[in-house]
Amino acid sequence: MSLKEEFNKIKEDFFHISKQLYDHPELGDEEYESMELLVNYLRSHDFEVETGLVDRPTSFRAEFKGEKDGPTIAFLAEYDALPGIGHGCGHNLIATMAIGAGVVLSKQLKDIGGKVIVLGTPAEETNGAKVPMSEQGTFDDIDVAMMVHPAGESEESGATLAMDAIQFAYTGKAAHAAAAPENGINALDAVIQLFNGINALREHVPDDIRMHGVISEGGQAANIVPERAVAQFYFRAEKREDLDEVLKKVTNIADGAALMTGATVEMSNYEISYDNMITNQALSDAFTKNLKSISPRPVKPAAKPGGSADMGNVSQVVPAIHPYVGMNDANLNFHTTAFADQTITDDGREAITSAVLSLAQTGYDVIKNKDLFQAIKEGFSKK
Ligand SMILES: [Zn+2]
Ligand SMILES: [Zn+2]
Repeated sequence: MSLKEEFNKIKEDFFHISKQLYDHPELGDEEYESMELLVNYLRSHDFEVETGLVDRPTSFRAEFKGEKDGPTIAFLAEYDALPGIGHGCGHNLIATMAIGAGVVLSKQLKDIGGKVIVLGTPAEETNGAKVPMSEQGTFDDIDVAMMVHPAGESEESGATLAMDAIQFAYTGKAAHAAAAPENGINALDAVIQLFNGINALREHVPDDIRMHGVISEGGQAANIVPERAVAQFYFRAEKREDLDEVLKKVTNIADGAALMTGATVEMSNYEISYDNMITNQALSDAFTKNLKSISPRPVKPAAKPGGSADMGNVSQVVPAIHPYVGMNDANLNFHTTAFADQTITDDGREAITSAVLSLAQTGYDVIKNKDLFQAIKEGFSKK
């Protein structure tokens, strides 16, 4: 039976699972019911399931082995939702596409060999589990990693920015701001000097660098010299090395602001850091070719990177792609209820069909086509 015939036999399961996830959105690291739903389905198709990898209770790894040796193909599932707007990033579709591709491809392994893994990766929106997974060897026995994100329109896999989330906490000394200002050390002044220094640095960084921050604590009252002030920033760059260079300069600025004011500074990461995404071009080309032959909709070339994603870390340790499959609405915005609602329309179901078949076909090609597998390996240089 062809991939398409296998898919048609069980496609209603996928539409149903996507709708169930939509109806019961769960926040990152709390996706217990979503995980149960997904792993039970994979077990029902003879996958061997392990949950709670890398100390993340809602993660899972589901494996199906063929009878012959061959490449190991991983499809990555996300299933975390957003506060207030449910699946406004469409991760109900990401999960459905991954298990769909895994199950459909698994039916071919008897003939072609290889192994299929569906990896459940929690909390993409907040505390991406793909980061510890990349660091702790989850991808060591995996040859390629693929996921599809839904979007308004289809788009080839591209780059994302490396990102560090840095907090600067300054401690000064409180004093009456009018009666004894000479006794005070103003932590807010230090934060303001930090902003001024970072703004001056903007003139001397490459175009792709992004530095954007807020003052999350700035004192209690205008008649008290602020003893504590805190700024939180995101720093991003197209390459991790460039980001590390910028961070060295930012550290000097933060120390300088402390020196100028007499305050002390403590720098820390307030969220997990993401590496930049490196698309494996041979794998991406194979996927795009399949998508174009399956879906009637246009596929745009990869856009200039704007955001960051934990798939970036995966792409540093294994050949990977993160393309977008469209839901037939060019005006759709991520992180909106309109986006969530689009996932359960006919257009959303069409996106599931296109993504499942393209992912499964690409996995099939990697296992069957030795030249393609070789090109993928040659295009990858390990971190
Ligand atoms: Zn999102
Ligand atoms: Zn997302």
